[in-house]
Formats: sequence, C-alpha cells, structure tokens
Amino acid sequence: MKIDRRSFLALTAGGTVGTALTPLPWKLTDDISIWSQNWPWTPVPPGGEATHVNSTCTLCPAACGITVRKIDQRAVKIEGMAGHPVNDGGICILGVSGLQLLYGPSRVKTPLKRVGDRGAGHWQPISWDQAVAEVAQKLGELREKGEGHTVAAICGSDRGTLPQLFSRLLTVYGSPNFFTLPTIHDTYAMTLGLMQGGNPQAGFDVENTDYLLSFGSGILEGWGAPVRMFRANSRWRSGYGKVVQVEARLSTTAAKADRWMPVNPGSEAALAMGLAHVILREKLYQRDFIKHHTEGFDEWQKGVLAGYAPDAVAAVSGVPAAEIEALAREFARARKPLAICGRGQGNTPGSLAESMAVHALNALVGNLQRPGGVWAMPEIEYIDWAEAEMDALAVAGLQQDRLDGAGSDGFPYAKYLPNRLVEAVNSGQGYPLQALLVSGANPCYSLADAAAVQKAIAAVPFVVSFSSFMDETAVNADLILPNHTNLERYEDVPTPLGLTRPIIGLSRPVVAPQFNTRHTGDVVIQIARAIGGTVGSAFPWPTYEACLQMTLAGAWGPLNRDGFWEVPGFQPADWAHAFETASGKFEFTNAAITSLALSEPIVLPGDEKAFPLLLMPFDSMRLTNGWIGNPPFMTKAVDDTVLKGDDVLVELNPQTASSLGLSQGQAAELQTPVGAARVRVNLFEGVRPGVVAMPTGLGHTAFDEFIAGKGVNYNMLAGPVADPASGLDAAWGIRAKLTKA
Ligand code: SF4
Repeated sequence: MKIDRRSFLALTAGGTVGTALTPLPWKLTDDISIWSQNWPWTPVPPGGEATHVNSTCTLCPAACGITVRKIDQRAVKIEGMAGHPVNDGGICILGVSGLQLLYGPSRVKTPLKRVGDRGAGHWQPISWDQAVAEVAQKLGELREKGEGHTVAAICGSDRGTLPQLFSRLLTVYGSPNFFTLPTIHDTYAMTLGLMQGGNPQAGFDVENTDYLLSFGSGILEGWGAPVRMFRANSRWRSGYGKVVQVEARLSTTAAKADRWMPVNPGSEAALAMGLAHVILREKLYQRDFIKHHTEGFDEWQKGVLAGYAPDAVAAVSGVPAAEIEALAREFARARKPLAICGRGQGNTPGSLAESMAVHALNALVGNLQRPGGVWAMPEIEYIDWAEAEMDALAVAGLQQDRLDGAGSDGFPYAKYLPNRLVEAVNSGQGYPLQALLVSGANPCYSLADAAAVQKAIAAVPFVVSFSSFMDETAVNADLILPNHTNLERYEDVPTPLGLTRPIIGLSRPVVAPQFNTRHTGDVVIQIARAIGGTVGSAFPWPTYEACLQMTLAGAWGPLNRDGFWEVPGFQPADWAHAFETASGKFEFTNAAITSLALSEPIVLPGDEKAFPLLLMPFDSMRLTNGWIGNPPFMTKAVDDTVLKGDDVLVELNPQTASSLGLSQGQAAELQTPVGAARVRVNLFEGVRPGVVAMPTGLGHTAFDEFIAGKGVNYNMLAGPVADPASGLDAAWGIRAKLTKA
C-alpha cells in the first residue's frame, strides 16, 4: 500500500479518528506530578480551571500520545493518552518528567551570542531580529563566495516538516551536507531496501508475535517505542508468548525473559547464521514462501550450510552447539516467531551483516507481512511541497561531494554518516566546513568519541544551535537560537519507527512559551527569506504554523483535536505484492548484496594486550540517551549500583574483579584507546568475565546543576567503528583496561 500525497489528501478529507478509551495511566504519574511540582524552580499554580489537552510527546522518537492536565494556564501533569496507537494510556518516566524540562533552569531563555572563547560559557542576549540577520548574513556571504557546500546541518531526524525545512534550506542554498544521527532503524531501512526493494521502514508486529528472539534489543530498556514494548512484554508475560534474549549482559530484558542466552559480544551475526544453518539443514523453513516468493535462496543456503555449522558458531559465540540447534528448532516451530536486533535502545546503527542475518531468519520462517512478523511500512508522503527553483549557486554547490561519503561508491546505501563527517573535519579531508546548524540533536554528547566531535565542532568557524536547552553542543556554539520545548510548540511526527500502524502524531502548544524562544520552523523560514533570491522564494509560508497546516491538509483538524491521525484500515501487502525488488520477490542475495563487504569483521580499536578487557555500554529507561539531559526526577530514580553520589559504577564479573584485585565499590581508573575516567566497581555475575559494562546517559557537562557532573559519558571513552559494509557506526564497545585508582 503506497500512501502518497494524493492518497493522503483523499484519506484526510473530512476524516475523523475513533479513539477507543482504554485508560491505563501509571499510578506513578500522580506521584511524579507531585514531585515535579516540588522542585524549587517549578511554579505551583494557586488554583484555577482544570483542562486537558491532547498532544504528542517528542522527547524520544516513539511519539507517544499524551494528555496534559492544566490548571489555568499552567501544565501540571502529563499522562499517557488513552486509545493512542503507540502507548494507549501508558507513559514512560521521561514523558512524565517533561514538566521539569519545561520549567527547568537549563532552558535557554532568549537568543544568545557568544562572548569570549568558545565553550567558556559567556553569552550576550540579543534580539531575534539580530539573531536571524546574523545567520542570514553569514550564510549569504558564504554562498556569494561559492562556498555554499561548506555549510552543514545536523538534525535529530529527517522525518517531519521541521527537518524537511532544514533539508530544503540546504538544497536551495546549495549544500549536500544535511545529516541526522543514525540509529538501528537506518540499518533496518538499508536491510529492507536491499532484500525487499523500495524504501520501506521496518514495522514489527510485536503485539501479535508469540516468540520473540531478541539479539540484544533492550525491550525493557527503551528499544523501539518503549511504552509499546512494555505493553507487549506484559502480554508475553501473561502467557501469550515467549521471549529469548541473546545478550552478553544480564540486562533487565534478559532477567525478565523466558530465557537468557549469554553470547560473546560481536558474535550475534554468526549466531543468527548458525540458527539459519539448522533451519536449512533440517528443512524447517516455510516452504511455500521460500519456493514462490524468494530469490537467491539456493546460493545463500549454500554459503550458510558451508560456513555456519553449529560447532563452528559455538566456538565463536560461546553458545553450545546443542543450544543453537534447540533454539533454531524452537524458533522455526513457533506459530508467529519474530527476530529483532539493535543493542539496547538501538541508538547505534550496528552491523549490517547482523541485521541482514536476523532479517533472513524472519524470511526463512515466512513471518514477513504477517501477524506477529516484520512489515514493510510505507511512509505517509504528506510532505510534498512545490519543487523549489534552483539558481546556479545551488546547482554548483550540490555538485560537490558530501563530506561523509554517504551515497558515494564506497557507501552507496548510506544516507548520513556523521561518524565519517567528524573524521573528515578533524583530518582535513575534503573541504573545510565553514558553518554548522544543529537542531534536535546534541552530537557533542551523544556521538561516539565525543571529544573528537567537540574538536571537529571547534574547528567550524560558525556554529548555530537551535536547542531549547544549554546542552553540550549549544555550549560550543557561536549563536543559540532557542526553540520552544515540546509542550510549547507544534511538531508533526510521522509513523514512529517500528510501529505497524501508519499514523501522524502532532505535538501542539499546550502552554504559551515561557520565555523569549521562537519555533525553529519560523526561524528557518525567516533566515531563508533574509538570504533572499531563490532561497527565500522556496519558503512561501508566512509562518511555520501556516506551512504545517497547509502540509497536513485535512488531517490538521483531527490532529489538533486528538493529537494523532491514523491511516484507516491499513493492512500489510501480501507476499505477492510486498516486494519491490527486480524479481518482485524477497531476495536472500542479489548483485547489490554480494557487492558489499558483509563478511569483513568489525574490528574494535585498541590492542588486546594493552587493553585486555572489553568495555560495553548498557541503556536504562531511567537515563535519557543524550540529546535531552536527564531530568532530575529520572536521576533520582537511578539505582545506587549505577550512580552513587556523582560516581558512576561499572559492572564487573567477580572473577575478573578478583584477577584485577578490585572489590565492590572500589575506585578504579578505566582507560580505553579513546579516553580515561575514574569509576567505581560494582560486582555483578550477570556480565561475562572480561567485560566491563557501563551505563549510558550520564556524565553531562552542560545543562544545569541538577543534570551536569553526574557520572561519566560513555561516549567520551568509546569511538565509532565504520561498518565496512555500510559505513554506519557498528561499534558495540571498545577495548579497555581497569586499574586501581
Ligand atoms: S516513550 Fe518517548 S515519546 Fe513516549 S512518553 Fe516516553 S519519552 Fe515520550
């Protein structure tokens, strides 16, 4: 089913959305509402009329529906929206903490211009007119000099009207350097594109699967849409299905699963192929699907049978051959088995070979486009603005190579490779970057090797942050043009990644802007118009809201009323119509796939003798992933085996600790080829010997006193590793050593 602009307009004309009311707010939300208001800087309304507003939470890509309770003009409580396709009344701890972000002290309250050295934290408030004029003047000068291609933008996503306004600005301006921060969904998009054709996103029908085989995905740590995954997990736990967690560490997901299968980190792709070997050898695959709807099966089968016998895979993965065989049989015999991958919350793209191996398992058992399986989800193509006129400067700029090499012969299927951008800037490859715009992302914190990222950004002469908060990237900018927060602004969110229901969510102004902030969409339009010429004329809308209303057409009304709009009656295409490959079938292999360096190993940096341990990150629902700082309420909920005072604890197997002479709670120096930090030791039998496990989401140096200075940022210790097949960051850890402090 294609959902192009024409279908969208037809579907939204006079459309309404039914909302089945099945409220399920956590009791906890009441406590949090009270706690949130007790922080010293949270205004407590004296009393007034109580109202409720439906909106969409945009604090993570899950885009849950929320209902915000207001007293008079103040937002006082955030609950999950009953009947919403993503979360149906549930909400996560970050979502309810949104009030702390709205009213918290790390807000940037007015446009700021740097005074003194970069990063020194000295700012001068300026007017919005001056802020817009300074950006437009700088960009205009670069363009006139023929250097338009040296301007880059990094956004949190490329989906929705706001990132698309940035993308349009760069296109008509003449720069190929638009970036987002890739996740596992980019790897999945590449996997489905190569094996199924077209440009679909992967949807996972987790609600209906009865056997989930997870290769390290943090079902209870924030993978996919966290509230949705919690709900699915409750269903499995009530007897509907079984969960097998393949993971090096005993995570919360592993502890709650029916079975935890510890595995040597980095061997997941081999294990998936080992399972495929057994399914092939014992002919447990779905014969009708394989016979009539696949291509390249025989060739692929030959390679799997020759290279991935259980004994060989056992040697690599640490999983006994008998267990591999039993797991393969159990998976293949389940009614609706589903295999997924993407470590932890899935914030790192990971290995393409692993993603393709895991997807091949789903294909073998025929669980594609079926209940409980993987669905190819079409984008709702509602953003279809008139083609912009391109002048000679724009055409010349776009003919330049991207700085990261994405889309080139080396990485033909990658869209954005910010890890390679950092390397290009720091090594002086390509051309120097002259200006950088950052919106909805905090690369100075959340990209691997954050110190190298900060160095690269320091080398760019003109950096503009559009952050609502004084985050690590904003601190290193020349200008901060603060956006409204998610409770103060409009923002559309297309189908959250992984969902099997095509929807658009709308975040809307629940309260009036608290400070002198401005919607980034308005600012982009104003900058473009101030640059003028064909750049300005590509932005005909008087305001962002006018742009959004025109774009959303008939969905605007339902979205404002309900907070989301859903494509009615969506069903996945059947096997005969689902695949857009040359053969019209699912392709286990093809010319494009064989041209990729899929068998090249992902080599972690660091010499094994100098760094005998392996440092691995782990995610938690109580810690945000970085572009939003952890609100104080969340930090209060972090266990003291993770953060004690301001010290981070790293997990170490007692055996390893004993060999290093380290004991529980002891201070230690953790070193990697990238950086070093002081940590404390937490003895934990749930990590494999030789592994050091470290929480992500800590160690902020910016934001405010409630967020900064707690623990260590894992990304200061770890570096990216470019997947030879995709160019995306495939690192799952880094070599390390640990010594007594
Ligand atoms: S899961 Fe994400 S979108 Fe949903 S409430 Fe939590 S932060 Fe908001």
